[in-house]
Amino acid sequence: MNNNIPEIEELIKQFSKLPGLGPKSAKRIILKLIGNKENMIKPLAKSLANVYKNVIRCANCGNLKISSNKCICEETGKFDKICVVESLADMWVIESANIFKGYYHILGGNLNTNNENKNLLIDSLIRRIKSNNLKEVIIATSATIEGQTTAHYIEDTIQNGKLKITKLAQGLPVGGEIEQLDDGTLFSAFKNRVPVTGD
Ligand SMILES: [Zn+2]
Repeated sequence: MNNNIPEIEELIKQFSKLPGLGPKSAKRIILKLIGNKENMIKPLAKSLANVYKNVIRCANCGNLKISSNKCICEETGKFDKICVVESLADMWVIESANIFKGYYHILGGNLNTNNENKNLLIDSLIRRIKSNNLKEVIIATSATIEGQTTAHYIEDTIQNGKLKITKLAQGLPVGGEIEQLDDGTLFSAFKNRVPVTGD
C-alpha cells in the first residue's frame, strides 16, 4: 500500500500500539486518513497537538485537566465518599454506570506482588481524605492479584480508626478488571460493598 514510505510505516507502528488495533486495522485507518487529508488528518493533528499541549494529569487526584485550569479535586467539601480506582478507564466505566456520587481518586496503575510502588498517587489520597474530612473510602481496584495487592496496601496505609473502608463485593469475577464489567455487575458490586476488616 505504501511503497515503504517511512512516514507511513511510522504511523502504522504508532497506531498498532492502540488498544484494540493490530497492524491490519491500523493500516485501514491510515488509508482512510490519507484519503481525507484536509478533512481528517488536519483536524486530527490539530486536536492531538492541543491535547498534548494543554491536557495534563492532575498530580493530586490523577484525573485529567486543562493545565491552566483548576482541577475538580480542588473543590472540597462536596462529598463525604471517595472511590479509588486504578485508571481513568475504570473511572469512566463507573461514572457512566451512574452508581456512585462522590470523589474519584485515580491511582495511575497498581502494585505488583512485591509492593513496588510505581508512582501511584497514594500520598495525595491520604491528604485528600484529611482535607475533605471523608467518611468512606471505597477501594474499587480490579479483582486481579495486582489489584488486590494494591487494595491491601491502601487499606493498611489509610487506616486511621474512624474511616470506613470498603471494597467492592465479591460479585466481581476473579481476575475481573473493572473496565470489562457490565453495568449490572458493577452496580451490585457497589451496592453490596463490604467493609474491610483490616486483618
Ligand atoms: Zn485533581
